[in-house]
Amino acid sequence: MNDYEINMLVDAAKEAADKAYVPYSEFPIGAAVMCEDGTIYNGCNIENASYSATVCAERVAIFKAVSDGNYSIKAVAVYSENSMPIPCGTCLQVMAEFNKDMKIYVVSDDDLNAFDLIDLLPFQFSIDKESL
Ligand code: ZN
Repeated sequence: MNDYEINMLVDAAKEAADKAYVPYSEFPIGAAVMCEDGTIYNGCNIENASYSATVCAERVAIFKAVSDGNYSIKAVAVYSENSMPIPCGTCLQVMAEFNKDMKIYVVSDDDLNAFDLIDLLPFQFSIDKESL
């Protein structure tokens, strides 16, 4: 990922945060994924009165890419205005499904940190797809 691609990804994540549906936490998060072909998909967190039905911004962005037939995700940016939004374990596991070497950019208005998925989720649940 070059700086231009990272900036595009971060901008898409910020744009998505403006659309977050967060009446309960009032904690908007935006995420964006970049696929190998350069396509970007973004998503926001979407809360629900039944808390367990809430979905994180990262998964919304990933599911948009996948539902568009684009499985080759190379990076994700996650944005929160005031804090560093480290992805939750569920989102990290979903990332691992599509790219074990995923690059993760965690962004606030004041900071940007880059992580490798393997460092945030060193023990991933997986099934050897080659044997299926
Ligand atoms: Zn999550």
